[in-house]
Amino acid sequence: GLILGIESSCDETAAAVVRAGTEALSNVVASQMSLHANYGGVVPELASREHLRNIVPVVREAMAHANVTFADLDAVAVTEGPGLAGALLVGITYAKALTLGLDKPLISVNHLEGHIHAVLMETRESSESPLPTPLLALVVSGGHTHLYLANHQQGSETWTYRNVGRTVDDAAGEAYDKVAKLLGLGYPGGPWIDALAPHGNPRAVPFTFAEIKHRAPRPGITNKKALANTEGPHFDFSFSGIKTAVLRYVETHNMRDSIESRRAALAADPTLTPKSEAVTRLCDQQTLDLIASFQYAVVGNLQRQTFAAAEALDARSIVVSGGVAANRELRRRLQAEADRRNLPIAFPSLALSTDNAAMIAAAAWPKLLAQNFASDDLGATPQLRLGQQ
Ligand code: ATP
Ligand code: MG
Ligand code: FE
Repeated sequence: GLILGIESSCDETAAAVVRAGTEALSNVVASQMSLHANYGGVVPELASREHLRNIVPVVREAMAHANVTFADLDAVAVTEGPGLAGALLVGITYAKALTLGLDKPLISVNHLEGHIHAVLMETRESSESPLPTPLLALVVSGGHTHLYLANHQQGSETWTYRNVGRTVDDAAGEAYDKVAKLLGLGYPGGPWIDALAPHGNPRAVPFTFAEIKHRAPRPGITNKKALANTEGPHFDFSFSGIKTAVLRYVETHNMRDSIESRRAALAADPTLTPKSEAVTRLCDQQTLDLIASFQYAVVGNLQRQTFAAAEALDARSIVVSGGVAANRELRRRLQAEADRRNLPIAFPSLALSTDNAAMIAAAAWPKLLAQNFASDDLGATPQLRLGQQ
């Protein structure tokens, strides 16, 4: 069961060879992060061009590193969506040409299902007991903040999903990125805020949870009867309120000058990274407190809605994935509450938190077993949704 996975939905060109949905023989990621950093966000046109440049060498490297030939493959899996149309098309076109030439099956994968399988793949590999289902998956990244209830179809390996929550405005990672930019920190913002927040007081600026909650039109419904009678997502998130609150705080506390000097200091020294010893010296205590308070509110929102959903939907375990799943404060608080509730919870390793192709190949494994193949006219679906809504 050897599957070559290909991922090009956003700003990572990635390829990986995975055996039986479990063992990654290779996992190659070419990130365009530094290219887009100059613009403070992903530029679609640039992304497509970079994917075109990278796709062939990245696939070659994944094959070489796995020490397999194209003839050894049982299938090629590719991300169908969601993502940027032009970016997706690079991976899809390449995968179609490859499978046509090799006369091997093509499997299309939803990127969000991939993120969930990043965790399932690693738990399969590291423990005998699979996570009990139904499981609640929190997919939290730069483009998504979604909750899914995931289940096995009876008597098969195939998974089914129900969307039970989503952000009504910004994704959590997007809020990290925007607030970091606003404060003169680098791109992407998540790792900067993650590194700086422990040096501030999370209770210094009272962005109460209510600040976010008020903006969510449909906050978590914990009443099971109400839930059974309603359709659509019930545990929504909102992150644009907190972003605006940070902006307001900055404006009312005369922080503009210190932000500009930080921006200049970072621009002048590109060797400074979130991991540098010197990063805390970039910020005064007021800024550190603001950063800590922002993170406290965002993580609190994620934590509250996730456990409200888990409880109301009788989830037996929790899976967290996507770029923001790398966040240490999020991991710490979700782990602590899951322990308190005796709920198994799993996070991906850091390498599989952000976009990669191993997760795409892993998600394709049940589809290979079910002979669930894509047709020759597979196209990109930028707004592709996962499961029942
Ligand atoms: P998609 O939403 O389609 O998955 P993406 O490229 O935005 O695409 P990822 O690559 O999974 O998503 O994650 C990137 C996001 O994760 C960025 O918003 C980044 O700031 C955030 N992020 C990365 N590390 C951390 C961290 N330690 N703490 C908080 N956020 C983080
Ligand atoms: Mg990315
Ligand atoms: Fe992603």
